[in-house]
Amino acid sequence: MVSIKLLLGLGASLALASPIPAPPSPVLLGRETGHFNASRPNITIFATGGTIAGSAGSSDQTTGYEAGALGVEVLIDAVPQLWNVSNPSGVQFANVGSSEMTPALLLNLTQQVQAELDKPEVQGVVVTHGTDTLEETAFFLDVTLRFDKPVVVVGSMRPATAISADGPINLLEAVTVAASPAAARRGVMVVLNDRIASAYYTTKTQANAPDTFKSAEQGFLGYMLDIKPIFYFEPALPVGRPYFNVTATEADALPQVDVLYGYQGLDPKLAAAAVADGAKGLICTGMGAGSWTKPGQKALKQLVEEHGTAIVFSRRTTDGYVDTQSVGYGGGFLNPQKARYTLMLALNAGYDEEKMHALFESQSSSA
Ligand code: ASP
Repeated sequence: MVSIKLLLGLGASLALASPIPAPPSPVLLGRETGHFNASRPNITIFATGGTIAGSAGSSDQTTGYEAGALGVEVLIDAVPQLWNVSNPSGVQFANVGSSEMTPALLLNLTQQVQAELDKPEVQGVVVTHGTDTLEETAFFLDVTLRFDKPVVVVGSMRPATAISADGPINLLEAVTVAASPAAARRGVMVVLNDRIASAYYTTKTQANAPDTFKSAEQGFLGYMLDIKPIFYFEPALPVGRPYFNVTATEADALPQVDVLYGYQGLDPKLAAAAVADGAKGLICTGMGAGSWTKPGQKALKQLVEEHGTAIVFSRRTTDGYVDTQSVGYGGGFLNPQKARYTLMLALNAGYDEEKMHALFESQSSSA
């Protein structure tokens, strides 16, 4: 029934293996669907695992289940309404809990998604993903793809076996958005719980409830009503959103960037330990608008002078802007996990100090 491009056996081996190897390019095993309708958009679904592919022992269990248990074919077959809006095909990219996703996997994923978007016969792409790190993957795709076509990242908060599982409707809404011409030129989107959000600022705000992906300051792009997307605005992209070309970047090329947390009496030695372990950059999750203790700042200054460590300050508050600090760049509106991928990609691209400032300070327009 389903047109599937399968990585044979990869899903099962990825679920067990650690660390996860970057998968090879997909082996295309297109087969007749019997449902194909040339008037409908062709949407490719890259499945990576997570709760949306999760299975629990009982219908009232919404924690402690196995994430990444069901294959992409099962996900698609569970929602026959997908055929009302698209010709879906699936790629089993991985089948893991999203905490197992890595920079190397994201590089491979973005290269595969780009190749798919470059095909004239493909109208849009959907990535199914665990919600825990969904915002990291969605952000990474947003700043590494060259695209106008809709790209949607989707997950669910309840496993497929739960009462009121949200995966099937979220998948249908995500594919519907990806198949909609109105969704073009909006960057990567996150669709969950009837909301359409921009990947750039959206973050997971609630550990358990389905109403979790939000960006309180920047808001949503639109709403799903009766499985139809309603956008609030004409297509727009975040101010200052960078593009990093990683089409030829090797799997292990991205430098190590670690995240430190700011708190009263923080231990200044942790920064040096990260650098000794190989970190080329540090994200300091600062208190308030990026503040860091005096002993902590002294330790960071030493790392900049002796090792050339790149330091970006973000904030442990839910929202807000962090400006340039005396010992590092300000992460602007980016939260620590998004600032981390930005710094990794900028270091990989060889940004100098001036370009780093421009990169992190361009996330707002005061003109
Ligand atoms: N642990 C899951 C994951 O991120 C949670 C989810 O998908 O909601 O893979």
